[in-house]
Amino acid sequence: MLKNDPLEQWDRDIFLHPSTHLAEFARGNVPQRIVTGGKGSHITDRNGNRLLDGFAGLYCVNVGYGRQEIAEAIADQARELSYYHAYVGHGTEASVTLAKMVLDRAPDHMSKVYFGLGGSDANETNIKLIWYYNNIRGLPEKKKIISRWRGYHGSGLMTGSLTGLHLFHKKFDLPMAQVLHTEAPYYYGRPKGEMTEEEFSAWCASELEAMIEREGPETIAAFWAEPVLGTGGIVPPPKGYWEKIQAVLEKYDILLVADEVVTGFGRLGSMMGSDHYGLKPDLITIAKGLTSAYAPLSGSIVSDKVWKVLEQGADELGPLGHGWTYSAHPIGAAAGVANLKLIDELGLIENAATVGRYLNDRMRETLGDHPNVGEIRGEGMLCAVELTADRSTRAAPDAGDKVTQRAVGHLLENGIIARAMPQAEIIGFAPPFCLTQDEADEIVEKTARAVNEVFGSGTSPRPATGPGADDVTR
Ligand code: PLP
Repeated sequence: MLKNDPLEQWDRDIFLHPSTHLAEFARGNVPQRIVTGGKGSHITDRNGNRLLDGFAGLYCVNVGYGRQEIAEAIADQARELSYYHAYVGHGTEASVTLAKMVLDRAPDHMSKVYFGLGGSDANETNIKLIWYYNNIRGLPEKKKIISRWRGYHGSGLMTGSLTGLHLFHKKFDLPMAQVLHTEAPYYYGRPKGEMTEEEFSAWCASELEAMIEREGPETIAAFWAEPVLGTGGIVPPPKGYWEKIQAVLEKYDILLVADEVVTGFGRLGSMMGSDHYGLKPDLITIAKGLTSAYAPLSGSIVSDKVWKVLEQGADELGPLGHGWTYSAHPIGAAAGVANLKLIDELGLIENAATVGRYLNDRMRETLGDHPNVGEIRGEGMLCAVELTADRSTRAAPDAGDKVTQRAVGHLLENGIIARAMPQAEIIGFAPPFCLTQDEADEIVEKTARAVNEVFGSGTSPRPATGPGADDVTR
């Protein structure tokens, strides 16, 4: 690209960006960043900035940027066979190999893999498989799906409905009628001292049960959840949560879908979030970490229990009426194979566990007692710093002060990409698994400076700009 081309202007004038304030961006009030390169945990932009990407893109570049092994695998696949579809029994060496690799890494009771392109469409596939499953079982009324407030499951019509963040519903006529939302497992959000963590988990399960009873169990098909709430605030489950929730689902014959788009393939320091927390999902949604975003690819992993019904239905119904042109695209599949191999060879899940724990520990040591830090929480390579006006009451800071935006803006000015998480004052980190201890130290030190700066008497940095500063999700 020529440096004197009008790329910045084209970007403002014609590029409709997702999750961006459209008018303010067009007016030039939301700064732009055109990213040109990446290596390890860093990206570079067209203005020559080098930034430590504390959010791995959108928690997806798990192996880090610039991995030649994956680039070569993509190039080899494109040269050899750039495309063939997966319909009516077709496949490619890459897609079949990846299916085997995925299943080898999935919980033991899973038996099939379907490939799509992104997390939203994979969740959409899972919804359709569940409706199909209950129709085959002769239970056509059993179609409603319960997800959780603060959950994020995509932004399609049904997946945007499952997402429990208001912005994704507002003026889109969502959620659709078949979707219900129950309590988020967000213990910090409850009044301090109201109940213990275990009591809170029991209360979440009883709220779920009450909703099922109210609606009629014969109408509820599935419960949709991320093992750790991601976009809704990086919230690991409170003690005893999954055990109690799964008992309710089992009691009412309701399927569990684990949305592992963020947690799949190592982010929690274990291969899958389901194994990490002892979940026994009936379907799993995967995307991001499957290819570390070197190419778009997602998947639905189907359990033996669901598969047996689908198999039985096929004899009656004929071919599955579902699929995309790009299902199991060989370039995505080749990227996936190379990515999963690299994760094993470099021990990146172990690194995510070790350095992730270090990052969380250091963040707690440094900011845990800060008067404006309400909670620091995380699991594996996920870390959240929740800000408060007063840690004794956990009162939220005045929204007009935009403290999280400003803290994230301060971090950015100091070379760190963090994310202002939607619907609360939360600074989020989800770095690549290759993060070093020195880089973790840099994140912690600069976060402490940003928080002190925002709440101290120092200058107020401008509201956050560029990647990670997505105030539109509030
Ligand atoms: N599910 C979860 C848990 C996610 O975090 C995301 C995206 O962030 C999605 C689904 C949607 O994935 P995509 O943006 O690839 O459609």
